[in-house]
Amino acid sequence: MNKEHLQNVLSGFSKVGLGQFPTPLHPLENLSKKLNTSTLYVKRDDLTGLVGPGGNKVRNLEYILGEALRQKNDTVIVSGPMQSNLCTIVACACAKLGLEAVLIHNGEKPQVPTGNHLLNHLLGVKSVFLGAVSKEERNASMSRIKKELQAEGKVPFVIENGSTTGHGILGYMEALLELQQQCQEKGYPIKTIFTPAGNGGVASGLVYANALLGQPFSIIAVSVEYPKDILLQHMRAVIAEAEDILHIPFTHNLNDVCTVTDEYWGGGWGKNTLQSEDAVFSLPQAEGFFIENVYTSKVFVAMCDYIKKGKVQDGVCYLHTGGFSSLFAQY
Ligand SMILES: *Cc1c(COP(=O)(O)O)cnc(C)c1O
Repeated sequence: MNKEHLQNVLSGFSKVGLGQFPTPLHPLENLSKKLNTSTLYVKRDDLTGLVGPGGNKVRNLEYILGEALRQKNDTVIVSGPMQSNLCTIVACACAKLGLEAVLIHNGEKPQVPTGNHLLNHLLGVKSVFLGAVSKEERNASMSRIKKELQAEGKVPFVIENGSTTGHGILGYMEALLELQQQCQEKGYPIKTIFTPAGNGGVASGLVYANALLGQPFSIIAVSVEYPKDILLQHMRAVIAEAEDILHIPFTHNLNDVCTVTDEYWGGGWGKNTLQSEDAVFSLPQAEGFFIENVYTSKVFVAMCDYIKKGKVQDGVCYLHTGGFSSLFAQY
Protein backbone atom coordinates (compact mmCIF):
# COMPACT_ATOMS: atom_id res chain seq x y z
CA MET A 1 0.00 0.00 0.00
CA ASN A 2 1.37 3.46 -0.76
CA LYS A 3 1.10 6.42 1.56
CA GLU A 4 -1.61 8.23 -0.41
CA HIS A 5 -3.80 5.15 -0.13
CA LEU A 6 -3.31 4.94 3.64
CA GLN A 7 -3.91 8.69 4.02
CA ASN A 8 -7.13 8.29 2.06
CA VAL A 9 -8.34 5.45 4.22
CA LEU A 10 -7.65 7.47 7.39
CA SER A 11 -9.41 10.53 6.05
CA GLY A 12 -12.63 8.50 5.91
CA PHE A 13 -12.91 8.62 9.72
CA SER A 14 -14.49 11.34 11.85
CA LYS A 15 -11.73 13.42 13.34
CA VAL A 16 -11.72 16.56 15.40
CA GLY A 17 -8.84 19.04 15.18
CA LEU A 18 -7.24 19.41 18.62
CA GLY A 19 -3.49 19.69 18.07
CA GLN A 20 -0.96 21.44 15.87
CA PHE A 21 0.59 19.18 13.27
CA PRO A 22 3.14 18.31 12.02
CA THR A 23 5.03 18.33 15.31
CA PRO A 24 8.70 19.33 15.01
CA LEU A 25 11.32 16.80 13.95
CA HIS A 26 14.85 17.95 14.64
CA PRO A 27 18.41 16.72 15.26
CA LEU A 28 19.85 16.30 18.76
CA GLU A 29 23.29 17.66 18.08
CA ASN A 30 24.69 18.02 21.60
CA LEU A 31 23.53 14.62 22.63
CA SER A 32 24.87 12.99 19.49
CA LYS A 33 28.29 14.45 20.29
CA LYS A 34 28.04 13.38 23.90
CA LEU A 35 27.16 9.82 22.94
CA ASN A 36 29.78 9.92 20.21
CA THR A 37 27.31 8.75 17.61
CA SER A 38 26.01 9.88 14.24
CA THR A 39 23.18 12.43 14.46
CA LEU A 40 20.18 11.43 16.54
CA TYR A 41 16.75 12.93 15.93
CA VAL A 42 13.72 13.65 18.06
CA LYS A 43 10.08 13.72 17.00
CA ARG A 44 8.53 16.26 19.34
CA ASP A 45 5.12 14.79 20.09
CA ASP A 46 5.44 16.51 23.45
CA LEU A 47 4.50 19.59 21.39
CA THR A 48 1.19 18.39 19.99
CA GLY A 49 -0.15 21.76 20.99
CA LEU A 50 -3.22 21.30 23.12
CA VAL A 51 -1.95 21.60 26.68
CA GLY A 52 0.83 21.17 29.22
CA PRO A 53 0.99 17.40 29.21
CA GLY A 54 0.85 17.60 25.42
CA GLY A 55 1.85 14.32 24.10
CA ASN A 56 0.64 11.33 22.25
CA LYS A 57 -2.90 11.28 23.63
CA VAL A 58 -3.82 14.34 21.57
CA ARG A 59 -3.42 12.30 18.40
CA ASN A 60 -5.54 9.45 19.81
CA LEU A 61 -8.24 11.85 20.96
CA GLU A 62 -8.62 13.53 17.58
CA TYR A 63 -10.09 10.25 16.34
CA ILE A 64 -11.74 9.06 19.56
CA LEU A 65 -13.53 12.34 20.27
CA GLY A 66 -14.27 12.69 16.55
CA GLU A 67 -16.22 9.47 16.96
CA ALA A 68 -17.83 10.71 20.22
CA LEU A 69 -19.04 13.88 18.50
CA ARG A 70 -20.32 11.88 15.55
CA GLN A 71 -22.37 9.85 18.04
CA LYS A 72 -23.69 13.12 19.57
CA ASN A 73 -22.26 12.53 23.03
CA ASP A 74 -22.16 15.50 25.41
CA THR A 75 -20.06 14.08 28.26
CA VAL A 76 -16.78 12.14 28.27
CA ILE A 77 -15.81 9.68 31.01
CA VAL A 78 -12.18 8.67 31.39
CA SER A 79 -10.27 6.92 34.14
CA GLY A 80 -6.66 6.84 35.25
CA PRO A 81 -4.39 7.49 38.21
CA MET A 82 -4.48 11.03 39.58
CA GLN A 83 -1.40 12.06 37.58
CA SER A 84 -2.69 10.48 34.37
CA ASN A 85 -1.70 12.52 31.32
CA LEU A 86 -4.69 11.17 29.46
CA CYS A 87 -7.19 12.47 32.04
CA THR A 88 -5.81 16.01 31.87
CA ILE A 89 -5.64 16.05 28.08
CA VAL A 90 -9.24 14.81 27.91
CA ALA A 91 -10.25 17.61 30.29
CA CYS A 92 -8.53 20.19 28.05
CA ALA A 93 -9.98 18.73 24.87
CA CYS A 94 -13.47 18.78 26.40
CA ALA A 95 -13.06 22.43 27.41
CA LYS A 96 -12.16 23.25 23.83
CA LEU A 97 -15.01 21.21 22.36
CA GLY A 98 -17.69 22.28 24.85
CA LEU A 99 -18.11 18.79 26.28
CA GLU A 100 -18.35 17.87 29.94
CA ALA A 101 -15.47 15.73 31.31
CA VAL A 102 -15.70 13.31 34.22
CA LEU A 103 -12.36 11.97 35.49
CA ILE A 104 -12.28 8.82 37.60
CA HIS A 105 -9.21 8.18 39.73
CA ASN A 106 -8.16 5.47 42.10
CA GLY A 107 -6.59 6.73 45.33
CA GLU A 108 -7.66 9.41 47.78
CA LYS A 109 -8.20 13.05 46.97
CA PRO A 110 -5.00 14.86 48.00
CA GLN A 111 -5.01 17.91 50.28
CA VAL A 112 -3.00 19.99 47.85
CA PRO A 113 -3.39 19.52 44.08
CA THR A 114 -0.11 19.11 42.19
CA GLY A 115 1.01 18.25 38.65
CA ASN A 116 -1.79 17.14 36.36
CA HIS A 117 -4.31 17.14 39.20
CA LEU A 118 -3.67 20.86 39.66
CA LEU A 119 -4.42 21.41 35.96
CA ASN A 120 -7.63 19.36 36.30
CA HIS A 121 -8.58 21.58 39.23
CA LEU A 122 -7.99 24.75 37.17
CA LEU A 123 -10.06 23.25 34.36
CA GLY A 124 -12.93 22.83 36.80
CA VAL A 125 -13.76 19.29 35.73
CA LYS A 126 -15.48 16.73 37.89
CA SER A 127 -12.90 14.39 39.47
CA VAL A 128 -14.16 11.29 41.25
CA PHE A 129 -11.77 9.63 43.74
CA LEU A 130 -12.56 5.99 44.39
CA GLY A 131 -10.02 5.35 47.18
CA ALA A 132 -7.74 2.34 47.22
CA VAL A 133 -9.18 0.26 44.38
CA SER A 134 -7.35 -1.70 41.68
CA LYS A 135 -7.02 -0.51 38.11
CA GLU A 136 -9.61 -3.15 37.12
CA GLU A 137 -12.12 -1.93 39.72
CA ARG A 138 -11.47 1.64 38.65
CA ASN A 139 -12.20 0.78 35.04
CA ALA A 140 -15.32 -1.17 36.01
CA SER A 141 -16.67 1.87 37.85
CA MET A 142 -16.85 3.72 34.54
CA SER A 143 -19.95 1.80 33.49
CA ARG A 144 -21.64 2.56 36.83
CA ILE A 145 -20.91 6.27 36.47
CA LYS A 146 -22.06 6.15 32.87
CA LYS A 147 -25.46 4.83 34.01
CA GLU A 148 -25.70 7.55 36.66
CA LEU A 149 -25.02 10.24 34.08
CA GLN A 150 -27.56 8.72 31.68
CA ALA A 151 -30.15 8.85 34.47
CA GLU A 152 -29.44 12.61 34.65
CA GLY A 153 -30.22 12.89 30.94
CA LYS A 154 -26.62 13.11 29.75
CA VAL A 155 -25.22 11.26 26.73
CA PRO A 156 -21.85 10.01 27.99
CA PHE A 157 -19.01 8.51 25.98
CA VAL A 158 -16.51 6.23 27.75
CA ILE A 159 -12.86 6.30 26.73
CA GLU A 160 -11.74 2.71 27.13
CA ASN A 161 -8.33 1.28 27.86
CA GLY A 162 -6.38 4.50 28.36
CA SER A 163 -7.33 5.58 24.81
CA THR A 164 -5.52 2.57 23.34
CA THR A 165 -8.43 1.63 21.08
CA GLY A 166 -9.00 0.90 17.41
CA HIS A 167 -9.90 4.53 16.74
CA GLY A 168 -7.16 5.79 19.05
CA ILE A 169 -4.33 4.13 17.19
CA LEU A 170 -5.38 5.71 13.90
CA GLY A 171 -3.65 8.79 15.32
CA TYR A 172 -0.31 7.01 15.34
CA MET A 173 -0.82 5.51 11.92
CA GLU A 174 -1.17 9.08 10.75
CA ALA A 175 1.90 10.09 12.80
CA LEU A 176 4.00 7.56 10.93
CA LEU A 177 2.93 9.08 7.60
CA GLU A 178 3.76 12.51 9.00
CA LEU A 179 7.23 11.41 10.10
CA GLN A 180 7.96 9.79 6.76
CA GLN A 181 6.92 12.95 4.93
CA GLN A 182 9.15 15.11 7.14
CA CYS A 183 12.14 12.80 6.61
CA GLN A 184 11.69 13.16 2.86
CA GLU A 185 11.31 16.94 2.99
CA LYS A 186 14.24 17.53 5.32
CA GLY A 187 16.47 14.79 3.98
CA TYR A 188 16.81 13.12 7.38
CA PRO A 189 18.04 9.54 7.02
CA ILE A 190 15.90 8.11 9.84
CA LYS A 191 15.69 4.33 9.92
CA THR A 192 14.89 3.40 13.51
CA ILE A 193 12.20 4.82 15.81
CA PHE A 194 12.26 4.32 19.58
CA THR A 195 8.82 4.57 21.11
CA PRO A 196 7.45 4.02 24.62
CA ALA A 197 4.80 1.38 25.19
CA GLY A 198 2.37 1.52 28.10
CA ASN A 199 -0.79 -0.14 26.85
CA GLY A 200 0.95 -0.25 23.48
CA GLY A 201 -1.31 2.08 21.50
CA VAL A 202 1.40 4.36 20.14
CA ALA A 203 3.58 1.41 19.22
CA SER A 204 0.69 -0.49 17.58
CA GLY A 205 -0.34 2.44 15.40
CA LEU A 206 3.24 2.95 14.25
CA VAL A 207 3.82 -0.74 13.61
CA TYR A 208 0.54 -1.25 11.75
CA ALA A 209 1.12 1.72 9.42
CA ASN A 210 4.78 0.83 8.98
CA ALA A 211 3.87 -2.73 7.97
CA LEU A 212 1.26 -1.48 5.47
CA LEU A 213 3.85 0.82 3.89
CA GLY A 214 6.37 -2.00 3.44
CA GLN A 215 8.43 -1.23 6.56
CA PRO A 216 10.32 1.96 5.74
CA PHE A 217 11.39 2.08 9.43
CA SER A 218 12.28 -0.35 12.12
CA ILE A 219 10.37 0.23 15.31
CA ILE A 220 11.63 -0.51 18.80
CA ALA A 221 8.94 -0.41 21.48
CA VAL A 222 10.20 0.02 25.03
CA SER A 223 7.78 -1.36 27.59
CA VAL A 224 7.27 0.85 30.63
CA GLU A 225 4.37 -1.03 32.19
CA TYR A 226 4.00 -4.70 31.26
CA PRO A 227 6.25 -7.70 30.66
CA LYS A 228 6.86 -8.29 26.98
CA ASP A 229 4.34 -11.16 26.54
CA ILE A 230 1.50 -9.16 28.03
CA LEU A 231 2.39 -6.07 26.05
CA LEU A 232 2.40 -8.10 22.83
CA GLN A 233 -1.06 -9.44 23.72
CA HIS A 234 -2.31 -5.88 24.23
CA MET A 235 -0.80 -4.83 20.93
CA ARG A 236 -2.36 -7.76 19.05
CA ALA A 237 -5.74 -6.96 20.58
CA VAL A 238 -5.74 -3.29 19.61
CA ILE A 239 -4.42 -4.01 16.13
CA ALA A 240 -7.31 -6.46 15.71
CA GLU A 241 -9.73 -3.69 16.79
CA ALA A 242 -8.22 -1.36 14.20
CA GLU A 243 -8.38 -4.07 11.53
CA ASP A 244 -12.12 -4.30 12.17
CA ILE A 245 -12.68 -0.62 11.54
CA LEU A 246 -10.13 -0.19 8.74
CA HIS A 247 -10.96 -3.43 6.91
CA ILE A 248 -7.27 -3.83 6.05
CA PRO A 249 -5.76 -7.05 7.34
CA PHE A 250 -2.54 -6.96 9.32
CA THR A 251 -0.96 -10.03 7.82
CA HIS A 252 2.25 -10.10 9.84
CA ASN A 253 3.49 -11.81 12.92
CA LEU A 254 4.00 -8.90 15.33
CA ASN A 255 7.45 -10.13 16.35
CA ASP A 256 8.59 -9.99 12.72
CA VAL A 257 7.69 -6.33 12.22
CA CYS A 258 8.80 -4.73 15.48
CA THR A 259 11.15 -5.19 18.39
CA VAL A 260 9.56 -5.14 21.83
CA THR A 261 11.82 -4.93 24.86
CA ASP A 262 10.96 -5.05 28.54
CA GLU A 263 14.58 -4.77 29.67
CA TYR A 264 14.29 -1.14 30.73
CA TRP A 265 11.06 -0.95 32.66
CA GLY A 266 12.59 -1.62 36.11
CA GLY A 267 9.76 -2.25 38.57
CA GLY A 268 7.09 -1.11 36.11
CA TRP A 269 4.86 1.92 35.60
CA GLY A 270 6.17 4.94 37.44
CA LYS A 271 9.08 3.12 39.10
CA ASN A 272 12.45 4.61 38.28
CA THR A 273 15.59 2.76 37.47
CA LEU A 274 18.96 4.30 38.32
CA GLN A 275 19.48 5.03 34.63
CA SER A 276 16.05 6.56 34.04
CA GLU A 277 16.47 8.78 37.08
CA ASP A 278 19.73 10.00 35.63
CA ALA A 279 18.19 10.57 32.18
CA VAL A 280 15.61 12.98 33.64
CA PHE A 281 18.58 15.27 34.37
CA SER A 282 20.97 14.51 31.55
CA LEU A 283 18.63 15.04 28.59
CA PRO A 284 17.42 18.53 29.58
CA GLN A 285 21.00 19.46 30.47
CA ALA A 286 22.14 18.49 26.98
CA GLU A 287 19.20 19.70 24.88
CA GLY A 288 16.98 22.07 26.88
CA PHE A 289 13.75 20.09 26.92
CA PHE A 290 12.37 17.80 29.56
CA ILE A 291 11.43 14.16 29.95
CA GLU A 292 9.70 12.51 32.91
CA ASN A 293 10.03 9.32 34.91
CA VAL A 294 7.14 7.14 33.80
CA TYR A 295 7.42 6.88 30.02
CA THR A 296 9.90 9.05 28.24
CA SER A 297 13.02 8.55 30.37
CA LYS A 298 12.94 4.77 29.96
CA VAL A 299 12.81 5.03 26.19
CA PHE A 300 15.73 7.39 26.27
CA VAL A 301 17.74 4.95 28.40
CA ALA A 302 16.91 2.13 26.00
CA MET A 303 17.96 4.20 22.99
CA CYS A 304 21.31 5.14 24.56
CA ASP A 305 21.95 1.54 25.54
CA TYR A 306 21.18 0.23 22.05
CA ILE A 307 23.53 2.81 20.58
CA LYS A 308 26.32 2.01 23.05
CA LYS A 309 26.02 -1.70 22.34
CA GLY A 310 26.01 -1.12 18.58
CA LYS A 311 22.54 -2.69 18.27
CA VAL A 312 21.28 0.15 16.07
CA GLN A 313 23.04 1.83 13.19
CA ASP A 314 22.73 5.40 11.88
CA GLY A 315 19.43 7.25 11.58
CA VAL A 316 17.92 6.89 15.03
CA CYS A 317 14.84 8.86 16.13
CA TYR A 318 13.52 9.27 19.66
CA LEU A 319 9.75 9.68 19.78
CA HIS A 320 8.99 12.09 22.63
CA THR A 321 5.43 11.42 23.78
CA GLY A 322 5.11 14.22 26.34
CA GLY A 323 3.95 13.98 29.94
CA PHE A 324 5.73 17.15 31.04
CA SER A 325 3.21 18.26 33.66
CA SER A 326 3.27 15.00 35.61
CA LEU A 327 6.93 15.80 36.32
CA PHE A 328 5.85 18.34 38.95
CA ALA A 329 4.31 15.58 41.03
CA GLN A 330 7.25 13.20 40.57
CA TYR A 331 9.66 15.06 42.88
C1 LIG B 1 0.03 7.27 27.63
C2 LIG B 1 1.42 7.68 27.36
C3 LIG B 1 2.30 6.85 26.63
C4 LIG B 1 1.99 5.43 26.23
O1 LIG B 1 1.04 5.21 25.36
P1 LIG B 1 0.44 3.77 25.09
O2 LIG B 1 -0.30 4.01 23.86
O3 LIG B 1 -0.42 3.44 26.27
O4 LIG B 1 1.53 2.78 24.95
C5 LIG B 1 3.57 7.31 26.37
N1 LIG B 1 3.98 8.52 26.81
C6 LIG B 1 3.20 9.33 27.51
C7 LIG B 1 3.74 10.63 27.98
C8 LIG B 1 1.88 8.95 27.81
O5 LIG B 1 1.09 9.77 28.52
